[in-house]
Amino acid sequence: METILQDLHAIVGDAGLLLGADVAQRPAMSLGKGSCEARAIVRPATPEELSQVMALCHRNDQPVVPWGGLTGLVNGATAQPHEIAISLERMTAIEEFDEQAGILVVQAGAPMQKVQEAAADKGWLFALDLGARGTATIGGNIATNAGGNSVLRYGMMRQQVLGLEAVLADGTLLSSMNQMLKNNAGYDLKHLFIGTEGTLGIVTRAVLRLHPLPRSRNTAFVGVESFAQLSILLRELSASLSGQLSSFEVMWGNFYRLMTEQTGKHPVIMPTDLPYYVLIEATGNSADEDAQRFEQILGEALESGTLLDAVIAQSETQADNLWAMRDDIETLVQAMSPLIAFDVSLPIKAMEQYVQEVETTLLSRWPEARLLVFGHMGDGNLHLIITTGADTDANRHAVETLVYEKLVPLAGSVSAEHGIGLEKRQFLPCSRSDVEIALMKTLKQALDPKNLLNPGKVI
Ligand code: ZN
Repeated sequence: METILQDLHAIVGDAGLLLGADVAQRPAMSLGKGSCEARAIVRPATPEELSQVMALCHRNDQPVVPWGGLTGLVNGATAQPHEIAISLERMTAIEEFDEQAGILVVQAGAPMQKVQEAAADKGWLFALDLGARGTATIGGNIATNAGGNSVLRYGMMRQQVLGLEAVLADGTLLSSMNQMLKNNAGYDLKHLFIGTEGTLGIVTRAVLRLHPLPRSRNTAFVGVESFAQLSILLRELSASLSGQLSSFEVMWGNFYRLMTEQTGKHPVIMPTDLPYYVLIEATGNSADEDAQRFEQILGEALESGTLLDAVIAQSETQADNLWAMRDDIETLVQAMSPLIAFDVSLPIKAMEQYVQEVETTLLSRWPEARLLVFGHMGDGNLHLIITTGADTDANRHAVETLVYEKLVPLAGSVSAEHGIGLEKRQFLPCSRSDVEIALMKTLKQALDPKNLLNPGKVI
């Protein structure tokens, strides 16, 4: 065995070091695609072990790629043959629960769903939620500043983190485990590691902020006649549900048609010829009152013509079924492959025209192309799924350029929630100025001068 691998073995032991076939059987990237090419996978059992691992890698100029649950969508955890993957999969403990304050201290490898369930058991809500909840980890959520389905009400991952601990490039263990909502004593260092995709440090533990667990959940699926009406609906619901609106998930008509009549994967619950559909959810604290009010507000929207049709879930199962359609990425991937997925942010008022322009340009160049659009409209975040039928790098690049170029005049973002990884790196300048990117590079140089942490990602 090579010296560095022997030295790593001395730190983490048999269970902590995977080589050869054990590495190759792991995926190279999310959705289980490819075969991992890393030199080794190191699985430290404690932050202290990881600290020693990084000190060793630093001495040996060994680049590393930090791993969460590998559910990211931008090749942010892809490791090259000369790199070592560092997986936190053995650090999954929930260490501490302050039931009075609603604060959880967890290790970074803890799966998101485990944290949600631990919180719910004690009457608290861990508010981040997304489709990959069973596999995605807290450390990955932090590194990517994950978004998901309830950002409208609770914010992104950044808003759920009070403090954290991270291992720096040279192995220094930085503990910044703040438990207070307010702490303005100097720079808030946790933000160096939130959303920086493992390029400035590896998060090992986190202090998470919880919210009271809602006692009511009201979910509806509605059909809307125009984008103008969609905007009105969002504004009206935000106002009338006064802070209880937690999701406003829009689907362009062809998304709903694909999931229902075209693939038969989900039942048709309202006419399929409407231009827009929305999955709406509100959570609150008074089961009966909230349900009545929800029904009344949607009833008024139907009467005024803001809505064309509405189905209110009458049970938890019905609500879950509505979400199952919204989150059915598998069906989407099957039906649209080879596909290119986008995760853009832009002002709500510009969305309709933006999507129309993308579609027109796309079809003028690839008449067979298909475009599906859905997303978290309340957050200004749309997911575009495009297939042109061809699966070449040149083709992909041409489609990406088309989608991103049209965002520039709108001051939109090439990544609302998925991050940059390798996949969007060359398009970062569409959303960040030269001065911003230069400061990112200054931070990278200061924290990781040898460029060992997730090299080549983001910048
Ligand atoms: Zn999303």
